[in-house]
Amino acid sequence: MALSGLMPGLMMDRPLLVIPLMQYAAAYHGDTKVVTQSLEGPIHRTTYAETYRRIGQLAHALVRLGIKPGDRVATLALNSWRHLELYYAVAGIGAICHTVNPRLSPEQICYILNHAEDCALFFDIPFAPVMAKVKSATSSIRHLIAMTDAAHLPGDGDFLAYEDLLAREPHDYDWPTFDENTAGQLCYTSGTTGMPKGVLYSHRALVLHGWGMMAACGLNVADTSLPVVPMFHVNAWGMPYGAPMVGAAQVYAGRAMDGPSLFALMDSEDVTCAQGVPTIWMGLIAEMRAQGRKPKHLERVLIGGAAAPVSMVEAFELEFGVEVNQGWGMTEMTPLGVVNTLKPKHASLSKAEKIALKAKQGRAVFGVELRIVDASGQLLPRDGASAGHLQVRGPWIAKSYYKETTSALTLDGWFDTGDIATLDGDGYLHITDRAKDIIKSGGEWISSVDLENAVLGHPDIAMAAVIGVPHERWQERPLLICVARGAAKPTVGDINTWLGGKVPKWWLPDAVAYIEGLPIGPTGKIQKNRLREQFKDFKLGA
Ligand code: AMP
Repeated sequence: MALSGLMPGLMMDRPLLVIPLMQYAAAYHGDTKVVTQSLEGPIHRTTYAETYRRIGQLAHALVRLGIKPGDRVATLALNSWRHLELYYAVAGIGAICHTVNPRLSPEQICYILNHAEDCALFFDIPFAPVMAKVKSATSSIRHLIAMTDAAHLPGDGDFLAYEDLLAREPHDYDWPTFDENTAGQLCYTSGTTGMPKGVLYSHRALVLHGWGMMAACGLNVADTSLPVVPMFHVNAWGMPYGAPMVGAAQVYAGRAMDGPSLFALMDSEDVTCAQGVPTIWMGLIAEMRAQGRKPKHLERVLIGGAAAPVSMVEAFELEFGVEVNQGWGMTEMTPLGVVNTLKPKHASLSKAEKIALKAKQGRAVFGVELRIVDASGQLLPRDGASAGHLQVRGPWIAKSYYKETTSALTLDGWFDTGDIATLDGDGYLHITDRAKDIIKSGGEWISSVDLENAVLGHPDIAMAAVIGVPHERWQERPLLICVARGAAKPTVGDINTWLGGKVPKWWLPDAVAYIEGLPIGPTGKIQKNRLREQFKDFKLGA
């Protein structure tokens, strides 16, 4: 409904841009550290003040290379201070920092570079071998810059060295001001179904999301944060914008993401909080068990990207006293949608009840609206039981994909996440499946996520995935695919006895298959499409 007679507010109209975040951090938290386990070997140390000075140098260098507003500048890089500088300098001059996932195949990388029409590519030295393919299979890229110094420069004069580019440039840059809806960052979805699609983040979305992330996670000036989640996928969950906003110190692991390396880095750098996907935390928990303690100052971890297994929440919270917050979101949401924090009334719950509640994904962050609808688009009740299609709306949620002319939204303006979920009366979201992974048995839905989660508590099972396989009577039944922890491989009977009471009886898997390792995709998720292909001829017994 259009209103008449509205009175304009009398506040300044200052745009929400990303450069002021780093200007703020440099001015008010200038000596706060940014530490990286560098790819060249030693630990690299810098501060927000120095980072801001180098961002100015990089901006001059980008302009000298001919990068103009609206140009796409790609990165193929791990978490580091140089990647942080690129985030800010590229967006700061009005261009677009396009992070590309180095775990994709060279063909997929070139497809994405061509689709985005990137004009320069900054890469970390381990990815130099991909450059031959990039040179032959892309047409728009004019500059290839290795993110290192002259001493470590790979190739035979093929690449520019990042540090050489910066060396001659002044620190001060006259940062332009422009519309906050201007694009500053680009990231492609994982593309598990169809080709990857580009999500184009505006400065406004990045700043608002950073604020939302900090408010939801309670990060503050006393924190030292280690985002294990990669800067090459969905802006490292917004931590590179959020941490400077509150003056939190940052630690980047570079390539060292195994349990022992993470443990050592957390210990030596006094890390208080860390963010990552469940597969990363499995390694850290194993190391904590081996050492019989947690990293000295680690207080809390944010788990997202895939469901946090109950056994993982238990290990962190009950064995080691590390608080777990689960988060849910997606590339199209910058990415954060919900974070799991308990309400004061939950203080009286038993430990087991608290853990069970924490295994839900959480409640909406302010700015994100959630709704659950059935197949015909009818709103479902928030009763914790009615499962349906999860749709979202908000200022940091995509409305269409890069270079696509059609809207990505429903007719009434919501984004369909492709997830199946319930919402309860307190607003806790529980993701039960991806719509494409759900198992339909006799007209009822079996949640593969909940079933996997329950199986992961079995002491002999290290990893688990559940897929639906055709069944004459029930249309589909669950097949459990496991990686055993040791030599013992429990039968489906053993597992179902153990699962008794933990899940509804008719969910119990019909069969179990053991494999050496589950296929993990470029963003750390189990690739069920590959498992479905691998087990497409699997026949259930009578
Ligand atoms: P991506 O766009 O690669 O970040 O993947 C987003 C998808 O990951 C979501 O739509 C969910 O299916 C899944 N996901 C993310 N976080 C969680 C979570 N905490 N629990 C369950 N699934 C999650």
